[in-house]
Amino acid sequence: MSQQGYVATPPYSQSQPGIGLSPPHYGHYGDPSHAGSPPGMMKPAGPLGAAAPGGMLPHGPSPPGPQQFGQNGAHAQGHPPQRFPGPPPVNSAAPSYAPYSPSTQSSYLSPASTASVTQLASQLNAMHINSYGSGMAPPGQGPPGPPSAPLFQGLPRPPQPSIMQPGSQVLPPPPTALNGPGASPLPPSTHRQDGLPGPAPLNAQYQPPPVPGQTLGTGYSPQQASYGPQMAGGQLSYPGGFPGGPAQLAGPPQLQKKLDPDSIPSPIQVIENDRATRGGQVYATNSRGQVPPLVTTDCVIQDQGNASPRYIRCTTYCFPCTSDMAKQAQIPLAAVIKPFATIPSNETPLYLVNHGENGPVRCNRCKAYMCPFMQFIEGGRRYQCGFCNCVNDVPPFYFQHLDHIGRRLDHYEKPELSLGSYEYVATLDYCRKNKPPNPPAFIFMIDVSYSNIKNGLVKLICEELKTVLEKLPKEEQEETSAIRVGFITYNKVLHFFNVKSNLAQPQMMVVTDVGEVFVPLLDGFLVNYQESQSVIHNLLDQIPEMFADSNENETVFAPVIQAGMEALKAADCPGKLFIFHSSLPTAEAPGKLKNRDDKKLINTDKEKTLFQPQTNVYDSLAKDCVAHGCCVTLFLFPSQYVDVASLGLVPQLTGGTLYKYNNFQMHMDSQQFLNDLRNDIEKKIGFDAIMRIRTSTGFRATDFFGGIFMNNTTDVEMAAIDCDKAVTVEFKHDDKLAEDSGALIQCAVLYTTTGGQRRLRIHNLSLNCSSQLADLYKSCETDALINFFAKSAFKAVLHQPLKVIREILVNQTAHMLACYRKNCASPSAASQLILPDSMKVLPVYMNCLLKNCVLLSRPEISTDERAYQRQLVMTMGVADSQLFFYPQLLPIHTLDVKSTTLPTAIRCSESRLSEEGIFLLANGLNMFLWLGVSSPPELIQGIFNVPSFAHINTDMTTLPEIGNPYSQTLRMIISIIQQKRPYSMKLTIVKQREQPEMVFRQFLVEDKGLYGGSSYVDFLCCVHKEICQLLN
Ligand SMILES: [Zn+2]
Repeated sequence: MSQQGYVATPPYSQSQPGIGLSPPHYGHYGDPSHAGSPPGMMKPAGPLGAAAPGGMLPHGPSPPGPQQFGQNGAHAQGHPPQRFPGPPPVNSAAPSYAPYSPSTQSSYLSPASTASVTQLASQLNAMHINSYGSGMAPPGQGPPGPPSAPLFQGLPRPPQPSIMQPGSQVLPPPPTALNGPGASPLPPSTHRQDGLPGPAPLNAQYQPPPVPGQTLGTGYSPQQASYGPQMAGGQLSYPGGFPGGPAQLAGPPQLQKKLDPDSIPSPIQVIENDRATRGGQVYATNSRGQVPPLVTTDCVIQDQGNASPRYIRCTTYCFPCTSDMAKQAQIPLAAVIKPFATIPSNETPLYLVNHGENGPVRCNRCKAYMCPFMQFIEGGRRYQCGFCNCVNDVPPFYFQHLDHIGRRLDHYEKPELSLGSYEYVATLDYCRKNKPPNPPAFIFMIDVSYSNIKNGLVKLICEELKTVLEKLPKEEQEETSAIRVGFITYNKVLHFFNVKSNLAQPQMMVVTDVGEVFVPLLDGFLVNYQESQSVIHNLLDQIPEMFADSNENETVFAPVIQAGMEALKAADCPGKLFIFHSSLPTAEAPGKLKNRDDKKLINTDKEKTLFQPQTNVYDSLAKDCVAHGCCVTLFLFPSQYVDVASLGLVPQLTGGTLYKYNNFQMHMDSQQFLNDLRNDIEKKIGFDAIMRIRTSTGFRATDFFGGIFMNNTTDVEMAAIDCDKAVTVEFKHDDKLAEDSGALIQCAVLYTTTGGQRRLRIHNLSLNCSSQLADLYKSCETDALINFFAKSAFKAVLHQPLKVIREILVNQTAHMLACYRKNCASPSAASQLILPDSMKVLPVYMNCLLKNCVLLSRPEISTDERAYQRQLVMTMGVADSQLFFYPQLLPIHTLDVKSTTLPTAIRCSESRLSEEGIFLLANGLNMFLWLGVSSPPELIQGIFNVPSFAHINTDMTTLPEIGNPYSQTLRMIISIIQQKRPYSMKLTIVKQREQPEMVFRQFLVEDKGLYGGSSYVDFLCCVHKEICQLLN
């Protein structure tokens, strides 16, 4: 197949210009003259690039002492040496809530819909859906073992074996009692077709198989109004809904209706199948290139040499050997890295390695840190680096003999030799100015302009701070937090407060020169909360009163950030600003903004400017903040346009979080805000961080997406990074990769802990390499792919017209699938749509991304909302982006109140709702409880304590606490869904056929969008047609 016609690298994912290729380096055997980093591989002055200190090594090998490593957490200091990693005891392996057991699967799920063969002899003239992957099934892969396979086997199961083999299927269990009244809008499973590829056994429901070569045909002509310049070779025919035209389907409507949605791949079925086969088990990371369970599957992860998928997830776990192959397949090679991910209590926290003043052991040439990929040789006196192949001398203090298989005798005693993830205590060489860092500080900065005082927001914030300051993060072995706190209020001037512990009253100092902010006091501004508690409470009581008579409507914004940063700078510490802000900053000052919201720009080449900051003040401010370890978190309470694209820039680039509460109303929204504030203050966070990705030879990191700042092409700088933030990294080949050595990735994050310790957090991951395209497709992870596509597209909206971005996404989806079809699938009718097993749900998820308001050019959607969602997605991890783009929809009327198991989710389509049902929908930002007009009265009584549907007051954002099982179970489910998410979701009660239902319907992402964007079925048809064109 000639690939040239359509293999166009998306312009926005091309590597940055100016990155020189590093020449491959082969064994220089420790020659000191080669000890430096290769060009482009290190930042000379940067802490991560700094050469290991020399000349300080003690002589002779020494056995590991008790201090050489400890475990982070409760046993951190002085713990006796112990062997590790002990597998967690079996009984601790229970997930944080009961796993979805196969027996809870609902009869909603079609046995056929994700079975190995989902062939559709469709009513839609020539379309076949076939997710059969026989062309790439290695011999010997059978159906999966039972889910009860013994633990600790290292799970040698091949990924998704069940669906690789024709005819071997994971069938959902028979319907259970979980389905309540009205729960089964689907036709019985006999309406669907199981079986093998090829001409399908016909039943009355199906038309004859299509004539080979026939395509989707007539209905899908390109819509001229919707699309601009075509990509190379790409004939776009994305149906309907996109700008320039009404949200219409291009095809004859009667054909659309006939395509049975149950016959196309179901995300729910894919999620449930993975849960059934891998949920509740121990997943050991002991083999290279192993595809982890889906991010929606609960299991216990055991580090046996590769980083947990909680820390790193890849778009594929098998890289193509050559860049030609990579170009042919068009599958992005990327890793989504969440270096501070929260680890459940039944998994082992990271060990802390301390080599004292020797510091971490690193390769002389590429500076990679000691890890399981280093090969010890010559009796243990030297080691070969897995990344650059350089042979290094083992430092004398680190020497250890090898056993009969060439492994160090202390292999299992040293985390850095046997684990995928661990931490190092950093030496002074890794600190700014070679001094230990000061503990970080939190500065609270409250907008006290008229409206915030008037609506009670200032009072709410001040009251809450009194409580949450008790919960400042601290090191686990410490009694109190080392974090100092400070307070500033502002409108168009700034008020600093002296809250020194020996004062009877707080003192206020006003800074009116907002053009060049200075810090009027050092002593007494940043204080220990415990010591100054009474003065601080005094202040927090007074602030709402102090400004009660203020009529000041105007605010500044950039000077606020500037003030916080200068204060941290003056105190010589990193830290975080918590800014509570409401309005467009129109007061005369740097960063002053005007209302430039212009809907006329939508669908023009200038639409991108709506996503760009309106002045470069914020960009340079962000740069300064990152340079001084100042992270900015912004709580926004807008009642009109506030220019999120400008205000949100500093939070985004400094690793902070942006929270937005539109038209904040005390009685409706305060709970959501307070939950966010508490969660944000308490969350695990590292400050003043710099991340470096090292790779084995043949490929390298070329592009980075996230809450990051980059001064050069390799150092990912972050003022702070917390447990919810992920950085997505794209890789490109610069040489051939070898199948036997694989592709190795090491992510090192140098950071300051909340206690003021400088540390290195290391995550290692080994991937396979193959010269077979089928291996590549077999190892893909669709959830990570969507995370990558979303971030690269949302980054591109700053520079490219949206229609071009949408075209690229559609094109690339078709390319990836066409390449599979051409090279990996077994021969079949050209008109069949064949999806690789690992990408079965790629089209539906891709369609969800295309329908997101960021990419949807519609004047109905607020510009601020689009800028906000764009920013949120840029830092999302895989689990959050999965939920965000494909919400969870649970049938609540099927609740088994005696069980703690969540009901099985259903597909996000209106056709799955029933008027006798109650459904809960969550996407990580929003939560809806949808009530059908004929909802069972006993449930309404149970949940709301009112006699009927008509009595339900929808003006509530939390459910009443009622002591009956329905209420308790539903509230428990809501808290489980909320628990793992970074944002507090506001609950909206929606009654069927009432106005707010329109908002809810936007989240039924398999349907045609309210503001455009095609249905899943239509999009699949479109992609199929595209593939057919590519294959022809
Ligand atoms: Zn090296």
